[in-house]
Amino acid sequence: MAGLSPSGVNLYQACNLKFDYRYNQETSGRMTPEPMAGGRLFHIWADTYAKHLIKTGQPFDRDEGLAIAGTMPEGVPLELYEDIQELFARWYKKKTFRSIDHTRTEMKLAFDAEGQEVQWDSPAAAIRMIIDVVEMIGGELIITDYKTGRQIKPINKVAGKTYTWGIFQKLGGEFTRIRYIEDYVRWNKTQELDISAEDIKSIPAFYAGIAKRIAAQPEWLPAGASGECVYCEAAYKCPTYKAEVEDNDLAITSDQDAVALAQKVFTTELRNSKAKDMLEAHSDAKGAIVFGDKEFGPVPEEKVKWDNLHSTLIHFMAGHPGEGLSLETITKGLSLSKSGVEKIFKATGLRGDDLKAKVYELIDAHGQLKVVTKFKFHNAK
Ligand code: SF4
Repeated sequence: MAGLSPSGVNLYQACNLKFDYRYNQETSGRMTPEPMAGGRLFHIWADTYAKHLIKTGQPFDRDEGLAIAGTMPEGVPLELYEDIQELFARWYKKKTFRSIDHTRTEMKLAFDAEGQEVQWDSPAAAIRMIIDVVEMIGGELIITDYKTGRQIKPINKVAGKTYTWGIFQKLGGEFTRIRYIEDYVRWNKTQELDISAEDIKSIPAFYAGIAKRIAAQPEWLPAGASGECVYCEAAYKCPTYKAEVEDNDLAITSDQDAVALAQKVFTTELRNSKAKDMLEAHSDAKGAIVFGDKEFGPVPEEKVKWDNLHSTLIHFMAGHPGEGLSLETITKGLSLSKSGVEKIFKATGLRGDDLKAKVYELIDAHGQLKVVTKFKFHNAK
């Protein structure tokens, strides 16, 4: 295994079995868990956006943000794309880089055991890291790590110290203050830590110590059930996970059972996928389950995102000879969300209050604004 990263260290400390599965095993055709795939997409977009700003010298460029997330990458499920698209929009609409000339993004660094920089995939790499954003503002070094998950974890001190150490090895410099920030973009929440020069001295020895323990590891055992179990790729072969799920298995034969299970969904993510299967099975047979002001499943699975709605409508209207439909008939079944209407007006160049006024004018004249609360399983907290 070449090069330990802060997240590898974290995982090793949290659960040996999951660490072994992720870093040591060659499992061909292994699926990337959805949250990881979503995180990757967000990071690619955020990096593309920041690189564009650095190139053009602008602190923000909302139109570019819209364009970056406008194309669905191949192989990404629609729901995941839409989720990350919304997350990214929330981020770039607020983000302003304070000193774009002194900003670096997506720094991919690898060092050997002596602290010398080496190629990323060098067998000599002992410490590896990818740093999302580094800013140098008025004597301060600010390191930001984007988090796209739903779970807010305690701040990762190892990551903060490792990144700072890596930046010093690579760039050197003197700073009045070093700040490590974790930005939970989904929740619009940040947590931060001050790092001192003293803090980073022990980084090479710390990584060497962990590497030594890993090399001498006699067996790879699961930890007790923890936050790491959510979407764990190794869950299928983990006895802890199996026991946990069996303990909480619940047959749904009444609405009370459904409510009890719904409460579990809200209180823990561990049984999420199982709860989802059971609730779906129940709601398929009995219709939706209402819990509080929320409605559970069945979750609509099949959505179509039209490449070109205009040509789709023309296709319907042209029909086969004698079967063409009127525009009124076709559009009756179409539903556009308020944000969909906003996008259309935005494409015509409208912004701010003018845009808002136009949207409401249209809704008042032709529609009705409905706010629907629908629980989606993948949004369970
Ligand atoms: S399910 Fe939990 S305990 Fe089991 S391997 Fe995964 S993280 Fe470890």
